[in-house]
Amino acid sequence: MRRAAANAFDSGWRCVRLRGRGNRDGRCHQQRCSQHRRGKGQQAGVRSHGVTRQRVCRQVQIAMVGMAAPSRQTDFDRIAAAKKERATACDADDQRQSHGPSSPTFRMPRLAIIGAGITGLSTARSLAAHPAFGAASLCLFDKGRRPGGRLASRETEFGSFDHGVQRALLGEPAAQIHGAGTLRAWPAADSLSESPSWIAEPTMNRLAQAWSQGLDCRCSVTVTGLARDGHQWRLGFDREQDDALFDQVLLTIPTPQALALLGTAGIENAALSAVRYQPNWTVMWTPSIPLPPTADHWAGTANDPIAWLAREDLKPGRVGPPRLTIQASAAWSIEHLERPADEVAARLISIAAEVLGLPADARPIYASAHRWRYAFVEQPIGVAAFELAPGLYYASDACLGSNVAQALSAGEAAAALIGANIDNA
Ligand SMILES: Cc1cc2nc3c(=O)[nH]c(=O)nc-3n(C[C@H](O)[C@H](O)[C@H](O)COP(=O)(O)OP(=O)(O)OC[C@H]3O[C@@H](n4cnc5c(N)ncnc54)[C@H](O)[C@@H]3O)c2cc1C
Repeated sequence: MRRAAANAFDSGWRCVRLRGRGNRDGRCHQQRCSQHRRGKGQQAGVRSHGVTRQRVCRQVQIAMVGMAAPSRQTDFDRIAAAKKERATACDADDQRQSHGPSSPTFRMPRLAIIGAGITGLSTARSLAAHPAFGAASLCLFDKGRRPGGRLASRETEFGSFDHGVQRALLGEPAAQIHGAGTLRAWPAADSLSESPSWIAEPTMNRLAQAWSQGLDCRCSVTVTGLARDGHQWRLGFDREQDDALFDQVLLTIPTPQALALLGTAGIENAALSAVRYQPNWTVMWTPSIPLPPTADHWAGTANDPIAWLAREDLKPGRVGPPRLTIQASAAWSIEHLERPADEVAARLISIAAEVLGLPADARPIYASAHRWRYAFVEQPIGVAAFELAPGLYYASDACLGSNVAQALSAGEAAAALIGANIDNA
């Protein structure tokens, strides 16, 4: 069965059948089971099948074609034998797939992913193809209004701003795999990095939205608590959810937030405690005066108060009025971390106007400052994903480093770890 599951994982092929009325005709009921698995189907005795099961179902289906009008007694005998064979094979298969032969009903393993940023979405997309999971067995929770986390964009009446990730540095194959039809090359932003720069259209966050398609991604939900409940994990939320018990839980949130959550379950972790983040102040600015055609971005040097400036309207695939995104340096952000947002916006706009050679009275018609308290990891843990306790995992950009490629890798590593644990269960 393990081999069958692995094969099914490779091909992304799965067969799910309802016990009871649905399976008497020997058909596979992937669609119905998928719906039921998310709710009452688990109590109704939904069982999953791997390759072996589908083959059996197909054999029985073929046998049953002749069942409609049996002409001889031998036909009945053959059908009865086929039914018996199917029942035996299916029950043996069920037992191998269930939590044990004595298990009264098989439940699909349920995974909660806390955080729908790049890492969480990467894990979810990988596991959605796993035969023991599938998209219906996954549930992502994010406190943000949209998926994406630091892969963030803000829509305003003056056009959109990418106030988090500016560009994804990915090799061409990776950009094809992960692009979801939204990525386009941004050669002007290529740096000394070996990988080319990619930008999502029409905003960076649209990439996260594309990734979340087909997934059960619940936004504006904060996970506030975690507790062991038998062999499962019980989550607490800031608003009522129909799901609270999960077989597996993956945390993809910044380590200080993860530690606070783990604390509610009495769990400590030295590796997570050792991670330090640099903060970042980012300002979105639409000036009141026209801006001349310029470069679409500037990168500051080590001692500059501004680390990155981008003309949003001139980036590939962007339209709308002239507007800028200003990212302060780590040092400036640390120094001004607790200052009011209005004051930070005014200061950074004044510095940016000077850098761009704009008149001092280039007052904003739109200005907003966003503080990323956990923007960039200083020193990553060095392990792509790991298990904190049985069925409880951690992965994020804190593992390998703060960029899109490393967050994707951490997510894929978490999926491999969780998938392997399920296969070996
Ligand atoms: C300003 C800025 C610019 C950047 N620019 C680039 C760039 O140009 N290129 C690049 O490669 N990288 C860049 N990065 C780094 C990149 O954004 C990160 O490495 C990556 O997005 C991390 O993804 P993640 O999924 O690990 O974490 P996150 O994106 O932080 O995702 C974690 C998610 O968890 C959610 N969450 C937290 N706590 C809870 C809770 N209790 N309950 C529910 N949900 C919760 C959050 O809302 C968030 O959505 C930038 C980062 C910043 C801040």
